[in-house]
Formats: sequence, C-alpha cells, structure tokens
Amino acid sequence: VFIAVEGVDGSGKTGVVRRLVAGLQARGHDVVGTREPGGTPQGEALRSLLLAGEDATWDPRAELLLMTAARVQHVARVVLPAVSAGRVVVSDRYVGSTLAYQGAGRGMSEALIRDLHAAVTDDLWPDLTLVLDVDPTIGLTRSRKRLSDGAIDEGRFESLDLAFHQRIREAFLAQANAAPDRHAVIDASGAPGAVQAQALAAAERFLAR
Ligand code: C5P
Ligand code: MG
Repeated sequence: VFIAVEGVDGSGKTGVVRRLVAGLQARGHDVVGTREPGGTPQGEALRSLLLAGEDATWDPRAELLLMTAARVQHVARVVLPAVSAGRVVVSDRYVGSTLAYQGAGRGMSEALIRDLHAAVTDDLWPDLTLVLDVDPTIGLTRSRKRLSDGAIDEGRFESLDLAFHQRIREAFLAQANAAPDRHAVIDASGAPGAVQAQALAAAERFLAR
C-alpha cells in the first residue's frame, strides 16, 4: 500500500509522516517512511541542487525533469520494491506536489506532467493521498519560524508570493475533488498533535477497508 502526504509548505507533512510510521507500526503494519524530492542517495543529491539558491534558479522545465528524475529513482529503488513486498510506504510528497508546484505554481502543463509521470514510473499513483489543508499564510508563518529557529535549513518559500502558494493549495484541493476515493483532506490549521491524529485515523480507516 502506498500513501502520499501532500500540502503547502508548513502544513505539517513531515510530522504527519513520522506519526503515521510510528502509529501504523504500533498496529502491526510493516511501514517505510520516505520523502520527495529525495528518498534515495541520488534523489537527495537532486534535492540539494533543487533547493539551493533562489526560487528562480531553475528553469521550470529543468525543474520538472529533475523532480521527475528523483521520483524515478525513488519509485524504482524504494517505493515499488517495498510495496511489492507487502509493506506500507508513506511518502512526504509525491507526484501531487509536482502537479501543484511545477504545474499550477510554475505553469507547466498538467497533461505533460501526467504523461511524463506515466511513462517513467509505470504510472504508479498512491493508493491514498492525505492532503493537509491549511491557509498558506499560516503555513508560511510556520515555515519561516522553523527557518529562523534553525529547525530547518532549506525551503523555497522565502521570496515567493502568497498568490503562488494559494494556487498550490487550490491544486491539492482540486486533485482531492477529482478523485475523492483516493484522497482524504485533513484540516491542518490546528495543533500538530491534532492534525497528526486525524491523519493517522484516515490512514487506518483506509487500511481497514
Ligand atoms: O517537502 P519540503 O517542504 O521539505 O520541500 C522543500 C521545498 O521544495 C519546499 O519549499 C517546496 O515548496 C519545494 N518543492 C517544490 N516542488 C516540488 C516539491 C517541493 O518546489 N515538487
Ligand atoms: Mg516538511
């Protein structure tokens, strides 16, 4: 089973993944937590390249290809082997982020992103995507605080405008509306513990079906 966790910057994805891994493991599932871009040594190297420098460093076409390259390596070496072995994979971001950021955010064609994804990942889509939904004003405030606290050392949200992040939020909600059986939208405006508990409950409901 493959579960993706998506949402705007500062929506709490990383904490939710940690909680899902621990919570599902405690209930007897064999769980792997991973992330994108990243999840493999090659993917992590691409992540460093992608997140270095200014928001506008990368041409959106090059950015799409590098995000996708990281995903190919991740799917081939981590996600598919684990899913095939009967494990539950929980990924911090997946193709939904590419549709949102490189598509709705940076103007790349959604059809191109989907076709490229289908061609290079054997069309692997998550069984369940948890969308952590929060007003980006709240998310960006959380992200900037973590950056100034030194809790994180990367992020591309610094100079981007709010309208960009509003498009990202709307894109995730549109994905969930288009395929409600494969998505759960979680209100991520509350305290981390409450958001994580809701996400875990949604994942458990899905796994019990
Ligand atoms: O997952 P995380 O929030 O750590 O992502 C790091 C940064 O990469 C974020 O600032 C996010 O906006 C950016 N990103 C992106 N396109 C993606 C995935 C992440 O611009 N497809
Ligand atoms: Mg994160």
